[in-house]
Amino acid sequence: MLSQDILVVGGGLAGLAAALASDPQLKVAVISKVHPLRSHSVAAQGGINAALGNSPDGQDDTWEKHAFDTIKGSDYLADQDIAELMCEKAISTIYELEHLGVPFSRFPGGVIAQRPFGGAGFPRTCYAADRTGLVILHTLFEQSVRRKVKFFNEWLVTKLAVKDGKCLGVVVYDLATGDIFPIKARAVIFATGGYGRVYLRTTNAFINHGSGIGIAYRAGVPLKDMEFVQFHPTSLYDTNILITEGARGEGGYLVNNKGKRFMEDYAPSAMELAPRDIVARAIQTEIEKGNGFEDQYVHLDLRHLEEKKIKKRLPGIREICINFAGIDPIDAPIPIQPAQHYSMGGIDVNAQCASVVEGFYAAGECACMSIHGANRLGGNSLLDTVVFGKTAGEEASHAVKGGKGSKDAERFLLDEALEVKKKIEEWGKKDSGEKVHRLLNRLKVIMSEKVDMFRNKKDLSAALDEISELRGDYGRVLISGKCLRYSQELVNIIEFDSMLDLAEVITLGALNREETRGSHFREDFQDRNDKDWLKHTLVTLKDGKPHINFKEVNITKYEPKARKY
Ligand SMILES: Cc1cc2nc3c(=O)[nH]c(=O)nc-3n(C[C@H](O)[C@H](O)[C@H](O)COP(=O)(O)OP(=O)(O)OC[C@H]3O[C@@H](n4cnc5c(N)ncnc54)[C@H](O)[C@@H]3O)c2cc1C
Repeated sequence: MLSQDILVVGGGLAGLAAALASDPQLKVAVISKVHPLRSHSVAAQGGINAALGNSPDGQDDTWEKHAFDTIKGSDYLADQDIAELMCEKAISTIYELEHLGVPFSRFPGGVIAQRPFGGAGFPRTCYAADRTGLVILHTLFEQSVRRKVKFFNEWLVTKLAVKDGKCLGVVVYDLATGDIFPIKARAVIFATGGYGRVYLRTTNAFINHGSGIGIAYRAGVPLKDMEFVQFHPTSLYDTNILITEGARGEGGYLVNNKGKRFMEDYAPSAMELAPRDIVARAIQTEIEKGNGFEDQYVHLDLRHLEEKKIKKRLPGIREICINFAGIDPIDAPIPIQPAQHYSMGGIDVNAQCASVVEGFYAAGECACMSIHGANRLGGNSLLDTVVFGKTAGEEASHAVKGGKGSKDAERFLLDEALEVKKKIEEWGKKDSGEKVHRLLNRLKVIMSEKVDMFRNKKDLSAALDEISELRGDYGRVLISGKCLRYSQELVNIIEFDSMLDLAEVITLGALNREETRGSHFREDFQDRNDKDWLKHTLVTLKDGKPHINFKEVNITKYEPKARKY
């Protein structure tokens, strides 16, 4: 049986940061369902935050101010000690990345350039033009190859093997051979990213099904704050490809069909650079009031930035607009609409990235350490992946070196793999039943129509009923192709189980939370209610059913106040 000391699942930024930080004397491997360089991290555009104070109008910036902006941006649901930890580590993290070879854009004097981003008091976002994720991911991948980290690509993890509260390994589906088998590991780190594809309109990659979060949930790990789903204000109309916040950071205007910069009605001081939840809702409100174009979108106007700046700072955005919308932002405004973008919630872990299951860790977008609370600030996710990916690698290494292996692990792992195989055989034997792509489309419609940016009790309750109906239909799902090699259908069938769980947990959390906070807007409870709801939602699977309980928010020195921008 294949056996590793540390098994990292996910080849995005969090996974590679974890692998690189793991003790080189241990056997470390990374599993990814796609080649690591195809992970969603590669698509990150705008940048990564750290209070370097390099910009001429940002010299007074400090990590404490970065922490305050993060906490205020979170609508005070962030755990303040963790937000402080991340912001303090941000500065050395950027220099580490620079020394590893990340080619950041520079100011004329040679220092790393920084641009303004939403909800930030200073220009704090370090970037490489509008391809920041790409350059960081390529650099960490290069370094992992140099360090001889072992990669298993195009392997899908289908199950976490947990016995008596201890993680013993995983079960995988090898896409190239069609085989199902277990891998033994002394520590498993999930860095499996977000679940954007649960929604119809999302900026996320097609692979972002969120199966890692669902797998952890079914293994008994609680999910935290899943009702907080970030909708990005500016995705390209129709294709929903992201148009980075950097476009507004560089000075872009949001304009409605009356030619008005409507953000003055919603966030008169911050205008286009208010946090994402506020800007996304403003855009949707304008569209619904009839102030959009074709009732579908508003304009992001960059024309006043002029050709030189657009070509230098936003070359990727220009390319996307030309290739996918047939317009050049140098001479025409960009049609944009909000779309699902990021998951603030995820696998519940502590500051060491450890979960309640011994030997099981999580980092990056799949994890919820409570840094981003009810709304994440742009540029803070890349930072989170690198800072806490590293923590996960270090902590797992300590634990493995101090701990001892488990007896009977192999027998248990083989049984777990056998169970997965049996299920697949059952799906393959059926002559009639449900096709997974139809189920997937139905789920996306439910989530987009009823668990979107504006929520209410009636829609959320209806969504829960429809999700439960879908689960019934999933029981009749079949594999129509006979070959299990590179079967995208099988990948989807396996991952759909998780998508149903995630949809249920998001909806349940949203229905339960009778207040408006950050990205979670309830039409029937439009105010934030700190008295009853300044707490994290935890959902645990018990006897096949989700159970809700709560956890306190950690406040250090920032008393919750009304958010004004
Ligand atoms: C278009 C776009 C632009 C963004 N721009 C920015 C930005 O400028 N700044 C910022 O801070 N944030 C940005 N974000 C957010 C940020 O990029 C992501 O949150 C972050 O990169 C996630 O990294 P990750 O390592 O957690 O996951 P990912 O990069 O999503 O990687 C997940 C990995 O897990 C693997 N995986 C998943 N499930 C399984 C499974 N079951 N078995 C095996 N492998 C599995 C995948 O193959 C992949 O390798 C952006 C997001 C998007 C979508």
